[in-house]
Amino acid sequence: MNIISTKEEETVLRFLKSHGCCLRCRLRFMGCRTTQCNFSEFAARADHTDVSDNISSEQETPCVVCLGILQDKIQETVIAKIADKVEQNDYDCGTFTCALTIPVSIRLREHILYAYMSKETNIDESIVSVLRTKLQNVKDVWKLFTIPKLEQAIRKRADLSMPSPFLVEVFLEHDDDKTIFNELMDKHKGCSNKQRRSKHNDNKFSRKNIETLLSEMTDEQLRQRFALSQIASRTFVRVDTVLCSHSSIFIGGRYNKLSRELSQTPWFVNGEKKVETSVQDLLCNPIAEAVKAESIKFLSSGREDVDVRNVYDGRPFAAELLNPRMTNITGELLTCLATTINQSTKQVKITSGLKILSKFDLKKLKEGENVKTKFYRALCVCRGVSSDSLPRLENLNKLKDVKIVQRTPVRVLHRRPLSPRTRVVYEMRARWAKRHELEELLHTAAESADTFFVLDVKTQAGTYVKEFVHGDFGRTKPSLRNFLNTEVDIIALDVTGINLKWP
Ligand SMILES: [Zn+2]
Repeated sequence: MNIISTKEEETVLRFLKSHGCCLRCRLRFMGCRTTQCNFSEFAARADHTDVSDNISSEQETPCVVCLGILQDKIQETVIAKIADKVEQNDYDCGTFTCALTIPVSIRLREHILYAYMSKETNIDESIVSVLRTKLQNVKDVWKLFTIPKLEQAIRKRADLSMPSPFLVEVFLEHDDDKTIFNELMDKHKGCSNKQRRSKHNDNKFSRKNIETLLSEMTDEQLRQRFALSQIASRTFVRVDTVLCSHSSIFIGGRYNKLSRELSQTPWFVNGEKKVETSVQDLLCNPIAEAVKAESIKFLSSGREDVDVRNVYDGRPFAAELLNPRMTNITGELLTCLATTINQSTKQVKITSGLKILSKFDLKKLKEGENVKTKFYRALCVCRGVSSDSLPRLENLNKLKDVKIVQRTPVRVLHRRPLSPRTRVVYEMRARWAKRHELEELLHTAAESADTFFVLDVKTQAGTYVKEFVHGDFGRTKPSLRNFLNTEVDIIALDVTGINLKWP
């Protein structure tokens, strides 16, 4: 059993100090992670003559291990930079999580100190081994004493129990590391096999390469190739980047698509927008703007073709708002958003309340794509039939659970040629069209030999309804053309129902 005596502790602390370790690093090498630099505690543990040294003089030179990360002077600069960035970005989230990335050399620096510890102090290797296990991580110590100050500076609470959706990432860099360790990395590489040499040549000072070096080099080799005095640096770490981000929030509802000339998503060719607007733009842009999101993703349970409307209850949808600044979304705001969207356009309409969604809700939306049944209304036409030889529509109403085989429709063949699939048309209701229904849709007078009818149909999800009506050159069998024994075409299609409890 190796218990470190006070004497040995003193020796190690003196060794660390003489080589330029800051106070907090000395403490963490002894396994201590106090939040404060507690001098009385430190003095009690390391009762050596120079403990009363002026601590402020220590702040002037970068610590050889943490390069200033744990020194007050740099801590203040880092906090100020973070606070600046958070302020600029204006996130309303009340909590935050901070992630720190530190220079890759810090682990190497710790190792080099250990490699020389026993040699320079005459302390037994076994004691050094025990000390190695007690070392406290720079990042953990930094968080302990920085987070409370950071909370004050950015006026947000650090979420310690669970990660906050608001993440502040701080990247610290040390510019002199490459110069300081260049030779060591080169020498090591010279001894390693040739294959790795060529592979890692471009980024030799990477975290991975340093880990490899440390796992392959003994303390003896490290001492041979690198003098302890070489780790001293004249420069402190600097803040390279501070990145702020908030995890996505999801807002969902149901919409009607009331236009037959509107695509689901924006259509770009060579970066140029080909259509004026889209369902996605009309529904999501006002929401993204309100919550100051960086970008959006439109998620819907299926979609309509450009010329197909969606009426009655509407189609379930969700907008994923990426990196939103505003996240305290009230019920009033949601109501207001729905009204704004509905007033801004006649092409789409929100038919439900808008709601903030959970991950569980989203799963439901995805599943909604495969709901078993869908409802459609189609305006169809029988071509070239005289009034005395009209097909008997009521025959359609008697059909139940009709199995149809559909080969990939000609209109989507270029996108996804699939093997033929079987779908079930559960029910149909057909009746002759009323005058106003025709006038609404056809702006010219119908030809006398054309007879129009309205078909309501309940089908299995994934049925190509247009093709079921006209037969698609025999690619869908049977079709209405077969049932009515006449040429049938489809004029207009509406989605009238999607069975999904939503939002
Ligand atoms: Zn330090």
